[in-house]
Order: sequence, then C-alpha cells, then structure tokens
Amino acid sequence: MKLDPFSDIKLDRQNLISAGLILLLGLIITSFATYFVHKKNNNEDHLKFNFQKNSFLRKLDSRMESYENALIQTRAFIMNSPGIKLKELKGYINDTELFERFPGLQGLGYAMVVPPKHIISKNNPLLFTFPEYKVWPKGVRDFYTSIIVLVPEDSRNKRAIGFDMYSDPVRREAMKRAKDENKTIMSKKVVLVQEDKNESYPGFLIYLPHFHNKMKIGSLEDRRKAIVGYVYTPFRAGELFKAILSELKIDLNIEIYDGIEVSKETNLFNSSDVNFEDAKRHLRSKEEIEINGRTWTIRFSALPSFNSTSSIFKDLIIFISGLILSLLLTWIFLISRKQTIAVMEMAEEKEKLLKKEKAHVAARDDFLSIASHELKTPLTSLKLQSQVMMRSIKRNDPDALSHEKVTTLIRQIDTQTTRLTRLVDDMLDISRIRTGRLKMEMDDVDVCELVNDVIERLMPQFQKVIGKAPEVSISQGLTARWDRFRIEQVLNNLLTNAIRYGNGKPVKISVERNENQIDISVIDQGIGIAPENLDKIFDRFERAGMSASEVSGLGLGLFITKQIVVAHHGQISVESSPGKGSTFKVTLPISSSEKNA
Ligand code: ADP
Repeated sequence: MKLDPFSDIKLDRQNLISAGLILLLGLIITSFATYFVHKKNNNEDHLKFNFQKNSFLRKLDSRMESYENALIQTRAFIMNSPGIKLKELKGYINDTELFERFPGLQGLGYAMVVPPKHIISKNNPLLFTFPEYKVWPKGVRDFYTSIIVLVPEDSRNKRAIGFDMYSDPVRREAMKRAKDENKTIMSKKVVLVQEDKNESYPGFLIYLPHFHNKMKIGSLEDRRKAIVGYVYTPFRAGELFKAILSELKIDLNIEIYDGIEVSKETNLFNSSDVNFEDAKRHLRSKEEIEINGRTWTIRFSALPSFNSTSSIFKDLIIFISGLILSLLLTWIFLISRKQTIAVMEMAEEKEKLLKKEKAHVAARDDFLSIASHELKTPLTSLKLQSQVMMRSIKRNDPDALSHEKVTTLIRQIDTQTTRLTRLVDDMLDISRIRTGRLKMEMDDVDVCELVNDVIERLMPQFQKVIGKAPEVSISQGLTARWDRFRIEQVLNNLLTNAIRYGNGKPVKISVERNENQIDISVIDQGIGIAPENLDKIFDRFERAGMSASEVSGLGLGLFITKQIVVAHHGQISVESSPGKGSTFKVTLPISSSEKNA
C-alpha cells in the first residue's frame, strides 16, 4: 500500500506549520500523559511501600509490647509470691507459653542483685530463697548481679547462669537506666553470653527492675537502695526479626541498626543482601523508632519482587503509543490537506478545461463566420463579374466578348478559384490532422529547387504587394528526405503570411545547413506579433486578434505548418516585435522518417 497516495502534491508553508503544530501538540500531550501515569504509578507504589513498611513497624511494636508485658507479669508474680522458690518461678515462666506464642524470644530470666557485703554474709532475704546462686566473672566490684534463672533451660541458656551482667559495661548501662528510671530499658547491641565462642550473632536484652516490696522507690536514691533484681529477656536479633517477618507478607528489604548511626558495627539485622541505595527513591525510607528507651534506625527498601506498578517499560509503552498516535494524526492531517488540495486542483482543472472548451467553441464559431465570409468573397466577386458580362451580352454590347474582357474575366475566375481551393485544402488538411490521416510521403528533395519553385509560384503576389522578389540566401546542392508537397506548403504558408502581414516591405528567406539539419528562416519587416499572442498563433483558428475584414484568412495556416514540421521531426519558432517584423524559423532534419501529424 502506498503510504502517501498524494505524494505528487506539495504542501505550502502554512500547511506544513500546522502539521508541525499538531505533531508538537501531540508530543506535549504524550509527555504530560506519560508524566502523569508515571506519577500515578509511583504514588501507588509509594502507598503500597508505606503500607508494607507500616505493617512491619506495627508488628514490631506490638511484639515488643508483648515482651514488656511478659516481663511486667513475671515481676508481678515474683512480688506477689513471698519466699518464692526457684522451681516455682521456672514453673510460672514455663506456664506462660511465651516461647510458643512469640518465636524469636531466647528466654526469660531473673538476675538477682548481690550487694558486695552479701556475698559474704548472704543476709539478703532473696539470697535465702535462692541460696545456690553463683557469681561470675570473679573479681572485686561495687555491685554484683547473678542470673539465677533463665527459661527455657537448654544448654545455651544454662551457660548464662551466674553471669554478672552488671560487670559488662553495655548491659550495665541498660540495667542502671532501668533501675534509675524504673522503666523497661533495652540494651545496646551485644553478643549474648549463651552464644558459642565461635558465634557472634548480634543480640540485645531488655531489663525490668525489681524493687524490694517494702522499700520506698520515690527518689533515685530510694530506687538505688531498693533494687533487688531484674526480670529480663535476651534476644538474638536475627531470630526475632525473622520471626516477625515470617508472619507478614511483604516484599521489602529491612535493615535494623542500633542507635542512629548506620554502620556495620551498629547493624542488628539485614533481611537480604539487597543494597538500600539501589532501590528507587520513592521505594526506600529510613525510620528512627523508639523502643524501650533505645533508638533504632530501620531502613526499608523495595525488593525486586516488590512488583512495582511503575516501570520504565510501561512509561516507554505510553510514550511510544502517544508518539505513534501523534504521528498518525499528523499523517492524517497531511493526507486530508493533500486530498482537499487535490480536489481543489481537480475543480480548477475542470474549470480550465471548461474555459478552454468554451474558447474552443467560440473560436469554432468565429471560424464558421470567417470561413463563410472567406468562401463568400470570391463567390460574390465571381457572380458580380458574370452578371456584368451577362448584361453586356444582353445589351448586344460589341465589346462584351472582346479579348481583353474575356481575359480579365478568366484571370478573375482563376484567382478566386485558387483562393477557394486553398481554403478548401486547408479545411481538408485540418480534418486529416484531426483524424490522423495527414500522411507524409518522404522523397529525396533538392532543397534549392523546392524553395525557388515556391517563390516562382508566389512571384505575382510579391510583385503586386511588395513590388519585388524576396531576397534569397541559400546554400547550393542541399538535398533532404522530406515530403516535398508538404514542405512546399510550409514555405508557401510562411511566405504568404510574410506578404500579407509584411506591410509591403521586403521579405527575406534564408536556407542553411546546420550539421544534420536545415534551418529555414522567413524574415519580414511587417506588423509583427504582440508577445501575448506568440504562443497562440500555432493553434487552430487563432488569428492573433486579426479580424476577417483586416486581412483575409482562416487562422489555419500556421497550425497546419506546425503539424507538418512536427511530422518531419522538426521544430518551428517565431521571434517578433510589433511594428518591426517577424522571423519564423523552421528546423528540419535532413533525413526525416515519417511521423503521424
Ligand atoms: P491566417 O493567416 O489565415 O490568419 P495563420 O495560421 O497563417 O492564419 O496565421 C495565424 C495568425 O498569425 C494570423 O492571423 C496573424 O495574426 C499572425 N501571423 C502569421 N504570420 C505573421 C507575420 N508574418 N507577421 C505578423 N503576424 C503574422
């Protein structure tokens, strides 16, 4: 299929500018559409991202709250159970089914405060309840604590029994804060004592202070005196967060850092190896949250499986579709403009044809009136002459049939019949040309002889109108293969016109060979032809504004001449200036094969 059925039609500047504007508008709309869809998809992604992020944060928060509640309940149980035995405490913790309910929890334990003097005297009331405690590491310190229970009692947890957490600066800081502020406090990142020497999983602990039932705890000083122990839970960060994540369906990478600094040292957990910076800007975020008196920094970033709605691919599809649509619109506009122009051109063409047809009909009407005039003039003249002679004969005029009168009459008859014959011949030629029957019969022609014959025949007219023969310039011995009769007709027409429109001034004819062709020029110094008529005079019935009364003629001579010249593969042209004369130049090949006129 041809893409542009009107490819021949060229559009003007204005149409091209309009097409450009349509394309530009299309591109602007496409860009906006792409931008808005991109933005909308980004928003949807962002909402989905935030939803997933918040569900993790909520879960984490509620889980940590549950742990804190477990600590508070355990402390309440201890406080309400004076003289509680180790076995009962273990039994209570086991009965809470904490570990089943909250996977990820490493244990729940109790660390008893052992003031230095009681290491020797053992007179702390609780020390009597748990007399079998031990304290490690050894060494002299101001304040001792000892883990007396850590449930579940697996081999890992058993390793921690007796450990003085207060001896470790990180744990001490949290325990001190818990005691001073009477709050659940979370420690910084630690490696739990129950870990193997080769294991260094990041972990942390949460402490809840336990004060003496009967002592005041209103002031800091009171609390420092009344502290008897800590209920606490140790966590392996990895296990805790994995357990939380396993309960959620989210496609996020989660990195958790202890404190506000993001570094390898502070890192508690990474849910995958995905690089935070690799995620799209709207699909990553950094949050700082407060849990049990500590700040954690959590970085969320979308995983490749996030299935984001927005993608370069989708944007590209929208943009390319818009682009194709814009191009299509522009193309449709161009084609429709061209179609309109084609229709207009056709209408113009039709109008031109109609005008031409009208002009043709007018010219034919003119021709008919001129032809009747031309035919009638010689006939009228003949009729007049014969009537005059008849009257003379009737009157028995003795001179009626005198030699002189009869000769004059016969000359008149000859002149008028020649004129009539010429008119009829021209009309016949026109009909032959129209039906393609103007046949050329090629023969070897002596050009010099042919020219002289034509001049010879026209000599009476030259003598009568100009008073002398034309000036002839001709190279001798030129022969050509032409239709002799028709080329005579050409010369006859050109020379007759030179006499008729020559203003009685001398006429010149030159014939010269130019390589393989012969140039014939007929030059007169007559009335000339107006520039606007130069193109028309070779058309049928065209008389270049000449009226029948000025110079007689049918306007057929030059038309027939041109058809004969073309049939010889030649050319005819004219140069003329009004009032100065005309030069008709015929160029004919020396050897012409016949071509239908
Ligand atoms: P006709 O002479 O019968 O009118 P032609 O076809 O021979 O028809 O000429 C067409 C027209 O060309 C003439 O009517 C005349 O106006 C113009 N024409 C032809 N030859 C000459 C010439 N030599 N000088 C001026 N006008 C000429």
